[in-house]
Amino acid sequence: MRILVTNDDGIMAPGLMALRKALAEIGDVTVVAPTTPQSAVGHAITLTEPIRVHRIDLGGGVWGYGVAGSPADSVKLALLELLPERPDIVASGINLGTNLGVNVLYSGTVAAAAEGAFFGLPSVAVSIEDSDVVDFDGAARIARRLIQQMMTGGPDRSGVQRGEPALLNINIPDLTKAPPRGVKVMPQSMKGFSERWERRTDPRGRTYYWITGDHDREDQGIHSDIAAFFEGYVTVTPLRFDLTDHDRVDDVRGWNLTL
Ligand code: MN
Repeated sequence: MRILVTNDDGIMAPGLMALRKALAEIGDVTVVAPTTPQSAVGHAITLTEPIRVHRIDLGGGVWGYGVAGSPADSVKLALLELLPERPDIVASGINLGTNLGVNVLYSGTVAAAAEGAFFGLPSVAVSIEDSDVVDFDGAARIARRLIQQMMTGGPDRSGVQRGEPALLNINIPDLTKAPPRGVKVMPQSMKGFSERWERRTDPRGRTYYWITGDHDREDQGIHSDIAAFFEGYVTVTPLRFDLTDHDRVDDVRGWNLTL
């Protein structure tokens, strides 16, 4: 199995290192990832600048490609230029910080995986809860087991033969507090962060802003990724990038719009 590993925290991030190491035990891994941290850039691509690529020493005799661009740039370049052969799967992460609910729309981690799915490849985004001490290796072992079950566990689970590659968003709770209660496949929540701006003053007396906030909790009785995550489960959410509001198409047609 050929595996492309990427992320949005940058090629030197410990989460990527752990994922690369864990997946090297089940396949041939190539790392192509942004040179610098690119969290929350979403599905951005670089149009107005050239993109430089550097071979980066990842330690232990392993080299990767550092891309001076976004996560989506990295996957596009990997698949169209850098990799000698098409991989079987794209794995993005492990991101430091969850990508739950509507936060998937801001996530560079998820966008990199979605880019893989655009190219017809099964893809996973893996994120872990931020905490003082993060067990990336434990999270990488969980990711590897889930990936194995998708890729080898049953007929066309990856969706490749049907031409509908699976795009899975995986979130792992803090493993240093307690082991996860299990894994649950859940729909994406419509919630995200309760945001607020911190207004501060710089040393020259000028105002600047910094966004912060707390993760929303799910409403009572709603079954979602956020609900299961905060109950202590690893969550798996199959995503699609058809953003059409299918339920509303007939409704809007019924408006008989005219020009
Ligand atoms: Mn990130």
